[in-house]
Amino acid sequence: MHPPMGPPPGAALDKLKEPRPEKIKDIPKYLKKLLSKFFFRLLYIFRLVWETKPWILFAMTFLAVLSGILPVLQAYAGSYLLNALASSYTKSVSSGIPDTVGWSNIVFLLTLQFLCIFAISFTNNINSLITRISGELVANHVRTKIMGKSKELDIESFDKPDFYAKLENATREADHRPIQIINSVFTLISTVITVCSYFAVLSQVKPVWASVLVIILSIPGAVVSFIYRKKNFRYMRHRSKDRRMLSYFSNIVTDKDLAKEIRIFGLSDLFTERYKEVFARYFRGLKSLFIKEGAWNISLSLVSSAANCILFLIIGKQVFEGKIEIGNYSLYTGALTSVAAGIATFISTTATVYEGTLFIDNLITFMNEKKKIKPSLKEGRIPERHKGHRIEFINVSFSYPGTKRKVIDNICCVIEPGDTVVLVGLNGAGKTTLIKLLTRLYDPTEGKILLDGHDIKEYDTKRLYDIYGIIFQDFGKYAVSVKENITFGQADKKADDEEIMLAAEKSSAAQFISHLPKAYETPLMRFFEEDGIELSIGQWQKLSIARAFYSDSDILILDEPTASLDAIAEQEIYNRFDELRQDKTTVFVSHRLSSATVADKILVLEQGRLIEQGNHKELMEKQGRYYELFSTQAKRYMEI
Ligand code: ADP
Repeated sequence: MHPPMGPPPGAALDKLKEPRPEKIKDIPKYLKKLLSKFFFRLLYIFRLVWETKPWILFAMTFLAVLSGILPVLQAYAGSYLLNALASSYTKSVSSGIPDTVGWSNIVFLLTLQFLCIFAISFTNNINSLITRISGELVANHVRTKIMGKSKELDIESFDKPDFYAKLENATREADHRPIQIINSVFTLISTVITVCSYFAVLSQVKPVWASVLVIILSIPGAVVSFIYRKKNFRYMRHRSKDRRMLSYFSNIVTDKDLAKEIRIFGLSDLFTERYKEVFARYFRGLKSLFIKEGAWNISLSLVSSAANCILFLIIGKQVFEGKIEIGNYSLYTGALTSVAAGIATFISTTATVYEGTLFIDNLITFMNEKKKIKPSLKEGRIPERHKGHRIEFINVSFSYPGTKRKVIDNICCVIEPGDTVVLVGLNGAGKTTLIKLLTRLYDPTEGKILLDGHDIKEYDTKRLYDIYGIIFQDFGKYAVSVKENITFGQADKKADDEEIMLAAEKSSAAQFISHLPKAYETPLMRFFEEDGIELSIGQWQKLSIARAFYSDSDILILDEPTASLDAIAEQEIYNRFDELRQDKTTVFVSHRLSSATVADKILVLEQGRLIEQGNHKELMEKQGRYYELFSTQAKRYMEI
């Protein structure tokens, strides 16, 4: 059975190291480093969007400039309109007749103001449309990139908890973050344009210090937002394990494969309780962050509102004293509010961009995960094909990454071309691990494995994988048609119906396939198709064996793929395999020793060590461990 999805709890956190300066003189260096990191990440995001579609960047630049200019134009149009209205009002009242000359001016300014309002709303709508479309496109691009990278990664990476942290962080954040950051960067550009234009307006406000004060007062709020963005990021990163636990527990309860066990053992409530406990812990910290930020924001906005009120009074008094026109009151107060809001937006958006770039680091770290399984030669060797291969294990030892225990301990043996080899041993003896080493899913920690006289590390990895046809214990069950499930044994070959049927015949799958509603075209599993068929585990196993027969490989490996078949069916399959394998080297792992009788060579493993090797007859005569295991099993069958 597949292991339950999701990362194991207790996974390590990915570390983003940004050591703080210890001395004051180190600060410039620290800031330089911080800035260069920031720009590096920003550039990475721009590149992601550019790779998706270059037009996104052009469209957003154009809209940012427009969004920067339009509010100022609107404010000017509004203030001129107010002045024109006030002046026409005075003229009409003093002369007793309507000011017809002023009216056309009023209509013009009103139209201009509404044109600006319309243009602003149009720009905003187009902007959000582009953001939504490009958001999907960029997310898709990033997801495809992550899928491409995952495909390239060594199996070893999947054993490391911090790999899951990186993967989780990268997939969770990286698909929506890039467009959010790009959007914020363009908001920054338009804000800068607006603020600069309003500065020109504000320079006319007297006294100058009053405007400066309001502007300065807008800064602390923004700084608070900056600080809390960083705190938020730190918290999220620190709590990465909690979030992975949350998704692990919720997935367990909703997982299809586990649904039976969860119900029978009544595990649902237990996992729901654990989910709630972790959530409570996770939420406690988050809530405290939200409340503290909220309290800061409320206090600071009180202070800046009071200052604004005083300044508005000062400007209002100037209108009252006839020093400035009523339109200018609206222009100046509007400019003040806009500049203060603009500065706040500028700083908080910078904070959002900064926070976003930190999250993007997860994606960058994930994408930079290094591949270790690659050819040791510059030009990887190409294995000869469609022939027997000689395999030699020379003092091979292995410990899984991050562990010290040798699960394979100093193994030496030779597999001659065309041999049938059976690996025998109790659970945990190291049989599957030996297969993983043979197929170069992992590299030995000591010793080497030769293929036709050369270290397997020297071969081109893809070409090396081509020579193996392998069915693992936890073989894949794919929600596609029966036919495709077989052709996945050699996905790069054009599907050939005759060969597919032949492979199914060989694996004894043909019989049940012929009874399926659409035979080879029957969709399997019920994830997507209403008429999808669920197979029994034994049927899946036969299908996976058909996959091995279909594959155009030189070395066939079956790692207990017959565990769910009865002893007779298993023996039948091994016999057929032996008969039909056409001189291919075959390696079986089986816990039923009856299958070992067909082998040219039996390798008996115990706690990672090769304790006996030979054929059935030799090992039985030796009366060692194999004899013991075989006799125990035979006795059990005799009793049945
Ligand atoms: P067998 O196939 O003989 O049952 P395995 O080769 O699967 O045994 O496992 C050998 C030992 O390696 C076991 O003790 C198992 O717990 C350990 N092991 C297997 N896979 C991993 C892994 N990915 N990380 C760490 N230890 C592992």
